[in-house]
Amino acid sequence: MCGIAGYLGPKTADSVLIVALERLKYRGYDSAGMAVMSEGEIHLRKAAGKLKHLADKLEAQPLSGHCGIAHTRWATHGPPTEANSHPHLSTDGRVAVVHNGIIENHEPLRRALKDQGGIFVSETDTEVIPQLISTLYRAGGDPLAAVRAAVARLEGSFAFAVVFADQPRRIIAVRQGSPLIIGKGKAYDPAEPNREGRTEVFTKGGSTAARELMIASDAPALLPHAQQVCFLEDGHLADLSDAGVAISTFAGVPVEAKFKPIEVTAEAVSKGSFDSFMAKEIAEQPTVLARLLESRLRTGASGVEIVEPDLGLDLKAVNHVVFLAAGTSWHAALLGKRFLEQLARIHVEVDISSEYRYRNPVASGGTLVVAISQSGETADTLAGLRLARAKFIPVVALVNVVTSTIARESNGVMPLLAGPEIGVASTKAYTAQVLALYLFALQVAKAKGLLTPEAEQQAIAAARALPEQVAATLRETEEEVCEAADLFASAQATVFLGRGGEHPTALEGALKLKEIAYVHAIGYPAGEFKHGPIALVTSHLPVVCMVPKDAMYEKMLSNLQEVRARSGRIITVGQKDDQHLRDLSDHLFGVRQAHDDLLQPILSVLPLQRYAYHVARRRDCDVDQPRNLAKSVTVE
Ligand code: GLU
Repeated sequence: MCGIAGYLGPKTADSVLIVALERLKYRGYDSAGMAVMSEGEIHLRKAAGKLKHLADKLEAQPLSGHCGIAHTRWATHGPPTEANSHPHLSTDGRVAVVHNGIIENHEPLRRALKDQGGIFVSETDTEVIPQLISTLYRAGGDPLAAVRAAVARLEGSFAFAVVFADQPRRIIAVRQGSPLIIGKGKAYDPAEPNREGRTEVFTKGGSTAARELMIASDAPALLPHAQQVCFLEDGHLADLSDAGVAISTFAGVPVEAKFKPIEVTAEAVSKGSFDSFMAKEIAEQPTVLARLLESRLRTGASGVEIVEPDLGLDLKAVNHVVFLAAGTSWHAALLGKRFLEQLARIHVEVDISSEYRYRNPVASGGTLVVAISQSGETADTLAGLRLARAKFIPVVALVNVVTSTIARESNGVMPLLAGPEIGVASTKAYTAQVLALYLFALQVAKAKGLLTPEAEQQAIAAARALPEQVAATLRETEEEVCEAADLFASAQATVFLGRGGEHPTALEGALKLKEIAYVHAIGYPAGEFKHGPIALVTSHLPVVCMVPKDAMYEKMLSNLQEVRARSGRIITVGQKDDQHLRDLSDHLFGVRQAHDDLLQPILSVLPLQRYAYHVARRRDCDVDQPRNLAKSVTVE
């Protein structure tokens, strides 16, 4: 979703902020803008479309101040035009705001503010914020009090940052439901050149600013300037000035600002030698899986055994698990259900977060909610988590970002350790989620006395073989995947079929193709195919069939024959030396065979990730920032 950034320090704010926006791009955006303070005025630059358009504007007309706020917008209210992009100003141009989220009561507020003479120039819900703050500021004269009074009248979920023309070295940041972090940089050294090698120095009354300060929606945007971060909590606001950071509740109670060292590195958020983050992240999967696995193994008296992070729960007592997830995480959850049912013999429900949160789910003793979200900020999953906790159901988070809101609000956390995932289409986080769920199911089975030491050793051996099998599968399928992508890049639609553990893989393969290549794609449980979708089959339709050598093999061959009989084009994912399958297929993506069938989906999904990537490239799509999509969906 949208990105917020802010800077206060010695460097030229526009040069710092444009880099911060660059690092926030992955969240998804459709326009961008910036406000920088100088000479008692707020100066704006905004542009619809790619960030490059804003950068070009700044190049032509640089902004010269040292304090500013910036934004990448993901439109909710009003199309992605320049007028609708943020920052938004009050009618008198003296207050500017960047905002993430939705102001649900914007219509009555807008009417009331218009009655008081406010002139609105955008279609956004956001514009009521600067208008409201400005009205309150003019009446009371205290910026912080004006922000507090405005927040008390706003409904919805949001984070925003505000600057005032007559407070040139001050940013006030507010958090109520959307993420916002504060970064603290080095003590200011006037001799240090700024990013471009210029030596502009900010001095105030002859003394230099104490610390560089930043705000951002996500930690990578603070790099390389900040060394320490502080996560703003819901219901808190931060007042950034040359005096430092003062955090307080909306009611005005001071809160200690707890800073800790920033963990993410600039290298981890760069593409390296790859052409896209997606390509880099696909290739990282062997390393990611190996790291995750080793973090969950320990050599004890009886050999290597599985350990999970301490979840603070008695897993023996869990007899019902509810997974909350959205998008790709939901596909991982479907596999989690198989693992838990098969290994730990407990009842499992898989719920889409946006559905769960609006039901009145039954809370019974022994229920555990597992909230799955790569970013740990998915708004619907967070709302589902809060609903569960309100019903006294314990919640465990399966997240990649361990400092995220979902992680902080859960009883226990299972980290994915996948490193920053920047590509909008999830790849390495997905396979890490699947492996983490397998290990979790083993842990539950062990707690319940259902896992023999031999079975545990076999599971560990199967998991340990994965990184090498993943690397080999990526290598060995590449050529065939490219050929199929050449052939089918212009297909209007694609169907993916799978059974058992490969049903979620089929869903994931279809989602990837939709997300980044804009091809209409649908994943189906293969047994359901003849109940409707088979009507789609023509000689132009590629049908991707998941056919590993498992208990469903023969059934899948029947499905494949049904497609063949209707002249459909067949791509299969199966064992690479399966000659029979090869003979039946137009293309076979030959994958390695996992040592435990439960883990096969981790290998089967790999050529589908690469297939979506290659089709997208052939269709000239931006694989890292597909249109309309946001990486972490922080609005409902
Ligand atoms: N609701 C606001 C808008 O449409 C903010 C959207 C965002 O989070 O980018 O402008």
